[in-house]
Amino acid sequence: MQGLLIAPGTLPPECEALRAEVRAFLAEAMMDIPPARRNRNWSGASAEFSRKMGERGWIGMTWPKRYGGHERSSLERYVVLEEMLAAGAPVGAHWVADRQSGPLLMRFAPDTLAPRIVPRIARGEAFFCIGMSEPDSGSDLASIRSRADRSADGWVINGRKVWTSGAHRAHFMIALVRTDDKGADRSTNRHAGMSQFLIDMQTPGLTVRPIINQLGEHDFNEVTLDDVRVPHENLIGNEGEGWKQVGAELAFERSGPERYLSSSQLLLEMLDAADADNPQHALALGRVVAQYGTLRQMSLGVAGMLARGENPALAAALVKDQGALVEQAMPDLAHELFGDQAEPGSTLDVAMRYSALAVPSFSLRGGTREILRGIIAKGMDLR
Ligand SMILES: Cc1cc2nc3c(=O)[nH]c(=O)nc-3n(C[C@H](O)[C@H](O)[C@H](O)COP(=O)(O)OP(=O)(O)OC[C@H]3O[C@@H](n4cnc5c(N)ncnc54)[C@H](O)[C@@H]3O)c2cc1C
Repeated sequence: MQGLLIAPGTLPPECEALRAEVRAFLAEAMMDIPPARRNRNWSGASAEFSRKMGERGWIGMTWPKRYGGHERSSLERYVVLEEMLAAGAPVGAHWVADRQSGPLLMRFAPDTLAPRIVPRIARGEAFFCIGMSEPDSGSDLASIRSRADRSADGWVINGRKVWTSGAHRAHFMIALVRTDDKGADRSTNRHAGMSQFLIDMQTPGLTVRPIINQLGEHDFNEVTLDDVRVPHENLIGNEGEGWKQVGAELAFERSGPERYLSSSQLLLEMLDAADADNPQHALALGRVVAQYGTLRQMSLGVAGMLARGENPALAAALVKDQGALVEQAMPDLAHELFGDQAEPGSTLDVAMRYSALAVPSFSLRGGTREILRGIIAKGMDLR
């Protein structure tokens, strides 16, 4: 992995060969997926599509073979991700597991949970959701109140999680909960006393209720945990070290190309609709494409840091913040350039309407803009 040393736009030949393979796969696999659904990008989910990707070896690409992975390079993985995002492929079912749950299990439960669960992720058969946010705890994650109490045969978990994307189709949740009242008291170390657990979504006591988002779609959920019993081995890593583990997980969550390629369908529609002789179109779209190019280099740099085992928290926060800024400006730009020419119901019109309602969430999910800027400021010794 060469990271930032890669010349802009250039990837090694094996990556470009893989890109051709992925595009050929997508040309066939996406045939029945209408353009309107492609706007959903990585929120779109199809268990069948995930299984097909698993068969191709495109989930868990960089993971060790002993966990069902394929030991390919981070750059090869990057190529698969960006092609899937550019095509608007329905990768949402396995996305979280491939991005963060699998790596988390291999790192913190390498001999217990990982050998059993991670190969299923790589086959595109096990989907995950993230149980961090709670009704009164989003940005201030250290204030969570859900808790796990030790019992004779394991742990008993009680509490409520909210905004849980994909919980209705997930097989497992990784939940952050309190295992100790240390830290619940604001006078002590607030980051102490939290632990992560693997919870099978079919466990008695766990209830998933849909929350419909402003697009009218069902992505989010509220998940209640009433005396949910899990065995001892479902504790991930060490008791009380959940905060540290979550920090590593969030770096994975914030680092990928999805953080600037969520509105790629709108960009493609604008490029199709652009008039080559219109200097306003050339200037405005040229600027967006240049911004995408820059974000791609920055995002590849973060992938390189992850591959080298470095902590990319600051760089990932920067890419996610800048990516959200570029994407959130696109619906307004589309209206300025094409507002009076997009036929109602055309693919351009649908992409414009979809993006206008989707982009506000980009600076909330995975950490709000203000929180990311706090991380950047801290990383630069500004606070
Ligand atoms: C599309 C989407 C998907 C999501 N999926 C998941 C999921 O799968 N699992 C999960 O656990 N969560 C998920 N979330 C929740 C997400 O992580 C939280 O919404 C986010 O952390 C913000 O928390 P909050 O909504 O409680 O807002 P709050 O924390 O209440 O923030 C409200 C506002 O105050 C600002 N603010 C808060 N604290 C500070 C501060 N210290 N300094 C300056 N400003 C501050 C914020 O920036 C924000 O603008 C998802 C959210 C979205 C939008």
